Amino acid sequence: MSSPTPDETLQERVSRLRSEGRLVDRFGRVATDLRISLIDKCNLRCTYCMPAEGLPWLPKEQLLTDDEIVRLARIAVEKLGIEEIRFTGGEPLLRPGLVSILDQVTSLSPRPQTALTTNGLGMARIAPALKDAGLDRVNISLDTLAPERFVALTRRDRLHDVLDGIAAAQQAGLTPVKINTVLMRGVNDDEAPALLRWCLAHGYELRFIEQMPLDGGHIWDRHQMITAQEILAELQQHFDLTPDPAHRGAAPAETWLVDGGPIRVGVIGSVTRPFCGDCDRTRLTADGQIRNCLFATEESDLRAALRGGASDDELADRWRTAMIGKRAGHGIDDPSFLQPARPMSAIGG
Ligand code: SAM
Ligand code: SF4
Repeated sequence: MSSPTPDETLQERVSRLRSEGRLVDRFGRVATDLRISLIDKCNLRCTYCMPAEGLPWLPKEQLLTDDEIVRLARIAVEKLGIEEIRFTGGEPLLRPGLVSILDQVTSLSPRPQTALTTNGLGMARIAPALKDAGLDRVNISLDTLAPERFVALTRRDRLHDVLDGIAAAQQAGLTPVKINTVLMRGVNDDEAPALLRWCLAHGYELRFIEQMPLDGGHIWDRHQMITAQEILAELQQHFDLTPDPAHRGAAPAETWLVDGGPIRVGVIGSVTRPFCGDCDRTRLTADGQIRNCLFATEESDLRAALRGGASDDELADRWRTAMIGKRAGHGIDDPSFLQPARPMSAIGG
C-alpha cells in the first residue's frame, strides 16, 4: 500500500500516507495493529488492574454489538490498512459472541492476523473452537505458579483452570503460546527464573511487562515497579541471554534467546524503555471509542457515529482523524503526566 520514498520530508510522508487512506499520525507513524476490547468485565481481580469489588461495568446498551464490531473491523482492514487484530478486554473469553466474531473477522480480505489476550479461564473448553474460527495465537496472563500467591494476586482460586487453559491453547495449535507476567515487588518478584524455567519446559514464550499506571484502583507507584533492568539482571544470574537476532520492528517486547535458543524471553519495558517512536497501534474500546494510545486522555466516539447512520467512508475518516493527533510518547515520566480516566481493563490491554 505504501512504499518508502527516502527523499520525502515528514510532512510529505504524512500527506502521502493520508491520501493513501492509512492511519498515519503527524510523526509519520502508521497504525497497522488494531486492539479491540470485547468487554470490560472480568472474572479475576488482579490487584494491579482492578479493585476487589470490580469496577462500574459499562451498561449493555453502550457495548458494541457483535455486528458493529465486525463492521468496524472490516472498515479497519479494507479501508485503513489494518493487518493484525488482537482481541482483549476485560476478559475476552466472557464475550458470548467471540467465536462468531473471530469467524467473520478471519474471513475478511485481506485476512488479518488474529491474536487474543486472555487470563485463560475457560480456554480449556473453547480453545479448539477458537482455532477452528481462525484465531492464530494467544497471550495468556500468568503472574505466579504458586497457588496461594495466585489467590492473593487475582483474588480468585483459579490457578488450575489457568494452567489447564494454557495447555489447551498449546494443544489446539494457538501457537506460539505467549505468557504475560507482571512482577510486583514483594509479591512475585522472586519468581522470574521459576516462571522462565516452566515456560522453557513447556515451549511457551514468556513476556515480562512492567507495571503501568493504568489500574482502576490507582495503586501504581513508580518506586515499587520492578523495572526491565531489574528483571534482566535477575534472569542473567540463572540463564544465558543473547540478543534475539530477529528484527524487533514495532514489537513492544525486547527479546533474548535463552541458553542459545530457540525459546526466547521478552521484556516489555513500557515505562522505563518506551517504544512509542515505533508504535503501530490503534485501539477500539468495548463501547466503540477510538483511542490512539493506551495513555490517551481523549477518545473519539465511533459508536455514536455508527448508530447515527454514518457510512463506512465517514467512519473511516473519523478513525483517521482520531489517529492524526496521537502524541509522540506516553509521558509517564513528565511531571504533567495524568493517568487516563479509564483503567486498562476498560481500554483493552
Ligand atoms: N484479561 C485479559 C488478561 O489478563 O490477559 C486481557 C486484558 S488484561 C488488561 C491484558 C494484559 O494487561 C494482561 O497481561 C495483564 O497482566 C496486563 N495488565 C493489566 N494491568 C496492567 C498494569 N497496570 N500494568 C501492566 N500490565 C497490566
Ligand atoms: Fe482481569 Fe486481565 Fe485485569 Fe486480571 S489483568 S483483572 S485477568 S482484565
